[in-house]
Amino acid sequence: MAEINRAVKGTGDVLPSDSYKWQFVEGKMLETARLYGFNEIRIPVFEHTEVFRRSVGDTTDVVQKEMYTFDDKGGRSVTLRPEFTAGVIRSAIEKGLVNGALPVKAAYVGGCYRYEKPQAGRLREFHQFGLECYGTQSPVADAELICAAQSIFDRLGIKQLRLEINSIGCPTCRAEYHKALKEYFYGYKDELCETCNSRLEKNPMRILDCKSPVCSKIAQGAPKITDYLCDECKEHFASVQKYLDAAGVEYTVNPTIVRGLDYYTKTVFEFVTDFIGAQGTVCGGGRYDGLIEELGGKHLPSLGFAMGIERLLMLMDKQGIEIPKPSTCDLYVAVMGESASLKSFEIIKAVRSCGLIAESDIVGRGLRAQMKYADKIGAKFSMVLGENEIEQGKAVIKNMSSGEQTEIVLDNTFAEKFMVLQLADVDSFKL
Ligand code: ATP
Ligand code: MG
Repeated sequence: MAEINRAVKGTGDVLPSDSYKWQFVEGKMLETARLYGFNEIRIPVFEHTEVFRRSVGDTTDVVQKEMYTFDDKGGRSVTLRPEFTAGVIRSAIEKGLVNGALPVKAAYVGGCYRYEKPQAGRLREFHQFGLECYGTQSPVADAELICAAQSIFDRLGIKQLRLEINSIGCPTCRAEYHKALKEYFYGYKDELCETCNSRLEKNPMRILDCKSPVCSKIAQGAPKITDYLCDECKEHFASVQKYLDAAGVEYTVNPTIVRGLDYYTKTVFEFVTDFIGAQGTVCGGGRYDGLIEELGGKHLPSLGFAMGIERLLMLMDKQGIEIPKPSTCDLYVAVMGESASLKSFEIIKAVRSCGLIAESDIVGRGLRAQMKYADKIGAKFSMVLGENEIEQGKAVIKNMSSGEQTEIVLDNTFAEKFMVLQLADVDSFKL
C-alpha cells in the first residue's frame, strides 16, 4: 500500500516550481532546431515492438535488457519507446514524408523508457530532444547536424563539452573489421562477460560499447575501425571534418566510439562532459544509412542525434548557469467581505486579459493570512480591497519590494493603469 505514495523507481516529477527550467531548455532547443530547418514531430509513446527490435537491433543492451514490452488487451506486443528514431521513421514512411521534399527534417522532444539500473543521470523514464534528417548522404548534412547540437549548447551557455567524432564505416568496410575484431576478442573469450560472449559471433562491435569494466579494458586494445575504412567512408569522414573546421566547431577523433544502437553507419559522435559523473554523455548521434530500408521504406541515407534533457539540466546546474525565473504573480488582490471579493473577481479577470498574472483569495482566508500568502508566492504588487475602497471607487497598490504605494481608480481602466504601473517598475524586467 505504501507504493501509492511513491513514484516508480527510476522515474521523477517536475514540480510546478521547477517546470520553467524545462520549458526554457526545451524552448531553446526547438527554437534552435527551427533556425536549422527542423520542425517538431509528435509521435506515440508506444509502438509495435517489432519497430524497435528491427531498428535498435537484437544484440543491443536496449533490446536485450531494457525495453518495457507488454501485450495489450488485444494481444499485440507493444513497447514504450526507448528512443525516438525508430518511431519517427515509422511515421515518415507511413505518412509519406519520405516521398515529399527531401531531406525530411524533424525535431522531437519527450519521454523515453528503458529498464536500466537507476543512478545519477540514468533513469527509467528520461527525456530526450533530438533531430532527424532523412534523404541525404552528403557529409555537409553530418556537419550541419553536429553544428545544430553545438549551437543548442552554446545558446544555453554550456561550456566545456567535448565533441568526439568517429566513423564506423559502411557494411563493406565493416565486414573486414568484424573479422579482425572477432579474431582479437576470441583471444579473451574466457574473460568477456556472458552477454559479450554471445555477441562475439553475431555482432562483435557491440563488445566495444559494453559497460563492464573487464570488457571495456579488453576493448581498449581492440583493432580500430578507422584503420579499416573503405575509400568512400574515409573520404566522407574527412569531408565532415573539413566542414566542421570551416564552422569553427572543435572536436577530437575518438576511434573507440561505436554508439549503443546497432543502426549506425559512417559518422558517429558524442558530446561528453566530466562535470556530472560517470554518465557523462549528454548527446549522441550519427548516420544510419540503412535504417529506413530496414523499417520497410526505400533506401534513404539518414542521420540524427539525441540529447538527454536530465543530464543537460544537471550539467547546467553544476556549471552554475541560471535559468531566468518567470514571474509567478504580478498582482495579488486581498479582499475583505463579499462585495470586495466580487469586485476583485472582476478586476483580476481584466488584469489577466492584459497578459499579467493576477490572483485573489479562493480559500476564504482573513486579511493577514492573505497577505502572508501573497508574500509566499512572490507577488510583485498587492492591493487591499474592502468596503471603503469599493465605496470610494479607488484602492492603493503596493510594490512589494520597494514598498512604494500608488492609488488607482477602480473603473474599467484599472487593468491598463496597472499594466503601465508594473511596466514602470524596473524589477519587472528581471523576468
Ligand atoms: P549511455 O551510454 O549513457 O547508456 P546511450 O548510448 O544508451 O547512453 P542513446 O541511446 O544514444 O544513449 O541516447 C542519447 C542520450 O540520451 C544519451 O546521451 C543520454 O544523454 C540520454 N540517455 C540515455 N539513456 C538514459 C537514461 N537511462 N537516463 C537518462 N538519460 C539517458
Ligand atoms: Mg544506454
